[in-house]
Amino acid sequence: MKKILVLGSTGSIGENTLNVIDTFPDHFKAVGLTAHSNIDLLERQIRKHNPESVVVSNPGKAQILKTKIADTKTAVYSGSDGLLEITKNSDYDILVTALVGFAGLAPTIEGIKRKKRIALANKETLVVAGEFIIDLCKQYDAEMIPVDSEHSAIFQSLVGEENKNISKLILTASGGPFFNREYNELQNVSVKDALNHPNWEMGAKITIDSASMMNKGLEVIEAKWMFNLSNDKIEVVIHPQSIIHSMVEFNDRSIKAQLSIPDMKLPIQYALTYPDRLESNFIETDFPKLHQLTFFEPDLEKFRCLKLAYEVMDQGGTAPCILNAANEFAVEKFLKGSIKFLEIPEIIDSALNKISNHHTPDLETIFECDRKTREFLETR
Ligand code: NDP
Ligand code: MG
Repeated sequence: MKKILVLGSTGSIGENTLNVIDTFPDHFKAVGLTAHSNIDLLERQIRKHNPESVVVSNPGKAQILKTKIADTKTAVYSGSDGLLEITKNSDYDILVTALVGFAGLAPTIEGIKRKKRIALANKETLVVAGEFIIDLCKQYDAEMIPVDSEHSAIFQSLVGEENKNISKLILTASGGPFFNREYNELQNVSVKDALNHPNWEMGAKITIDSASMMNKGLEVIEAKWMFNLSNDKIEVVIHPQSIIHSMVEFNDRSIKAQLSIPDMKLPIQYALTYPDRLESNFIETDFPKLHQLTFFEPDLEKFRCLKLAYEVMDQGGTAPCILNAANEFAVEKFLKGSIKFLEIPEIIDSALNKISNHHTPDLETIFECDRKTREFLETR
């Protein structure tokens, strides 16, 4: 029986993870859960899974939850300190990092230091601190298994293969809701339009990132670190059906891929069961019903966020951290209706022009860079 700590259990990946855990009660038990403020859902999860401890990172909400679940044995911690506390001190085997944004970095580090398996959904961790995190995993001999569907596909394609034989990774992208729109039409798209993803149901932040194609940009950087490859070996191809989740081309030009109807429960399950596979029937891929799989080149002029992500990957240092912080800031503003969709890359560009890049950052510099970028954007 593997004990699972799910950071961000009330989110889209978190709920899917609990669904997988429910499917295999003899294999997995949720021992810790966390939410930011959705204590109603967290309470339902507590009553169903009886975890030993939970964290509500919003302190006011933590107090309310404590009163509500006083009849249970679950301990409630609060704040970002609570997230560190639960990852440092609770008893678990696998850490599922399903928090959204930069907030995922610090608790992931604690999981690595405890030599736990990290089922990594929080891609921002590798975007802002990839080199540091990969070195830390080596130092502590911690295992990192991707949850992101593209990276899971690559990881699965690499089983039994050697890194030196990879010629390139081909990350597939759905193209999001605006794939068929002209650049000019993006000027006035609404929040509702941008949240209307054709293939995946996800949290609001990553759904907007998919509409701007920043998500693919973050994933290119995530792949660079996770698979230890040079920048020129990572390509993106638009594949609107999201059936091929990504591919690896080897030196002999043979290509391996992983395919299925899109459902995040599959990569989540694999990250929990690897190297084993357990029988499940979440999905069934029926090829005659699919009719066709199509592929297109991404338009970097239309999707400026993807271009910016490629640029910061080449610049290295804290440039990806600046991009990430500015993107989180801009997406939040867009979701609140305070900026237009095409202002997202403009805001990121302004931060990249203003905040200086540290080329060999330590962890402290990364935290400082995240803080400085947000401060600059707040006061601009
Ligand atoms: P959601 O927005 O659905 O969920 C985020 C979770 O994190 C919730 O539990 C939320 O709590 C909590 N949270 C939000 N802000 C904070 C904070 N500042 N501190 C602590 N906890 C916080 O996100 P997703 O599940 O969609 O995504 C999670 C991560 O997984 C992201 O990094 C995303 O890029 C990645 N990912 C997601 C995929 C998907 O299909 N959704 C696919 C691949 C990767 P509350 O509910 O209380 O707000
Ligand atoms: Mg993905």
